[in-house]
Amino acid sequence: MTTSTLALTKVRNIGIMAHIDAGKTTTAERILFFTGVSHRIGEVHDGNTALDYTKQERDRGITITSAATTCHWAVNGAEHTINLIDTPGHVDFTIEVERCLRVLDGAVAVFDGVAGVEPQSETVWRQADRYGVPRICFVNKLDRAGADFLRCVDMIRERLGAVPLVTQLPIGAEAGFAGVVDLVSGRAHVWSDDRYAVTDVPSGMAEDVRRWRAALVETVAEHDEEVMELYLGGAEPSQEQLHAAIRRLTVASAVTPVLCGSAFKNKGVQPLLDAVVRYLPSPLDVADVRDDAPLAALAFKIMSERHLGRLTFVRIYSGRLESGAPVLNSVKSRKERIGKIYRIHADTREEIESAGAGDIVAVMGLKQTTTGETLCDDAHPVILESMDFPAPVIEVAIEPRSKGDMEKLSVAIQRLSEEDPSFQVHDENGQTVIGGMGELHLEILIDRMKEEFRVEANVGRPRVAYRETVRSAVERVDVTHRKQTGGKGQFAKVQISLEPIEDGYEFVNRVTGGRIPKEFIPSVDAGCQEAMQTGVLAGHEMTGVRVTLLDGDFHPIDSSELAFKIAGSLAFREAVRRASPVLLEPVMTVEVTTPEEYLGSVIGDLNARRGRIEGTGERAGAWIVQALVPLSEMFGYVGHLRGMTSGRGVFTMQFAAYAEVPAQVAEKIIAAG
Ligand code: GDP
Repeated sequence: MTTSTLALTKVRNIGIMAHIDAGKTTTAERILFFTGVSHRIGEVHDGNTALDYTKQERDRGITITSAATTCHWAVNGAEHTINLIDTPGHVDFTIEVERCLRVLDGAVAVFDGVAGVEPQSETVWRQADRYGVPRICFVNKLDRAGADFLRCVDMIRERLGAVPLVTQLPIGAEAGFAGVVDLVSGRAHVWSDDRYAVTDVPSGMAEDVRRWRAALVETVAEHDEEVMELYLGGAEPSQEQLHAAIRRLTVASAVTPVLCGSAFKNKGVQPLLDAVVRYLPSPLDVADVRDDAPLAALAFKIMSERHLGRLTFVRIYSGRLESGAPVLNSVKSRKERIGKIYRIHADTREEIESAGAGDIVAVMGLKQTTTGETLCDDAHPVILESMDFPAPVIEVAIEPRSKGDMEKLSVAIQRLSEEDPSFQVHDENGQTVIGGMGELHLEILIDRMKEEFRVEANVGRPRVAYRETVRSAVERVDVTHRKQTGGKGQFAKVQISLEPIEDGYEFVNRVTGGRIPKEFIPSVDAGCQEAMQTGVLAGHEMTGVRVTLLDGDFHPIDSSELAFKIAGSLAFREAVRRASPVLLEPVMTVEVTTPEEYLGSVIGDLNARRGRIEGTGERAGAWIVQALVPLSEMFGYVGHLRGMTSGRGVFTMQFAAYAEVPAQVAEKIIAAG
């Protein structure tokens, strides 16, 4: 066991972001291999890689769980620690991507050298922009037929609005792709198997290398004063000066270095690691982190695996995390105790006694803490910026086969919702309904319930999570709840007003002079909240309502909390009926990419799905259609689009907003519901 004190300048907390299939997993896996953590190269298509370890991921060949893996890489003899945070690639899991972006300091964006910048790469890129994450780009798959490095660089400039800084040129192309020329050092790296030799630039490339190196120096000079002065004085910057300037510009997100290779063929990964160390920020570059300040750490991922137990991944922003020490979960106001602390490698874990600011580690022993919560020093409570979770737009009913399955289901729900706060559960007429962010998201949750927790259950068809709201205000509703059935009776009188608000629920108390005793007021609130759960139109959860309790009356003997709760609930429902209730549905931002010949049918079809076309444009020979489409119209779209475009159309979809269902459609939903 070691006390882990890292020199923070030598730490890189990074993620890899990419469109699905661009090669994120392969690149991550090669990084772990070349840093010596993993001893054998697993191939994705064998379903055997170091980072993708849960069964669902293997079955689907996609990455859904983000784990932080620690590895080491030396540049110029100085060893650096790289914490690699695995970010998921599928749109359904953008919440996981956001969660990762929140805790990493820099990222490698991997692109498919054939497909270039795909619509979903843009989505992820914009998220990284939002969180101000400095990036370097890795144009992968240069061994494939049709790969084009420079076209990809153009796409990075045009589609992503970045300033690409070409720091390498590929040697050879497609099957003849052999290595890269590093434009800073002017040396070639040529691979055979997984090793490379550093050689002179191949003779045929001298002119290209001269031109691209000049372009590199010019771009750096444009953005960096130090290099600008050298440039104007006619002096050539040294390698060290260039490295330092590129680092400054990358950290400031002024430029994005672009590298290339083929992860699959083991080409270009070592220089990529050099670039991670050279150009991406250390925790110190991003914020003022201090070990001697009080503890503040963010739990960003919970993983509960049956034989490993519950691990909480935390990013420490200040202070030290000590094994055995008490900490405060400031979000829940609960005390917790840190158990063992681990650094997780691809296939082992290393126990450490403590970890300091800027570090990312896994902790055992936390019982109450869930994703997005802050752990801090009891005497210095802080809440680090919490994360927003998008609405669960799709839901499915689960019916356990037996009483035993029912119990297993509740354990599974408890554990899975700790790991993934974007998944929600509610009860609907005695039935368990789980909600998530997409069909695939739900499918994976259900698979895990069945496989990891051995729940046997009938699963309904996925359906849209409708909501209900009100469109007009109601000034006064009076309700008297009175019951006289021998013994003690029930009496409560309330008067409320109700009005639409943006979203959620608000309760305002305006009762004066003790006309309702203080202790009963929370009961009225509770009654309204309970009534919010089942709207008056089709029983969907309500949103966007403010209730004001204006007045009321009570009876010294017959009034009770229960009586006021019932009165509140009845008044709420009556007020909603009079407040022009409407049905809301989730509307998605859909982006379809299609060859021109199918453009007309794609647009016509989206219109038929109640879609609103927001824009069309051409990109590198393909057409992009952007539209807002109700989620209920998008079931089975994958197959339909494929059929319509001879398999060439692709699309991405993300939640945009809840919107009112048109009256005619609403009638049908209400009749069916
Ligand atoms: P991810 O979805 O971004 O994690 O992508 P994967 O790493 O799973 O790769 C998707 C597919 O592309 C797999 O079949 C890989 O073997 C393949 N692949 C990844 N990198 C390369 C590469 O550099 N060259 C070639 N030819 N195939 C690659």
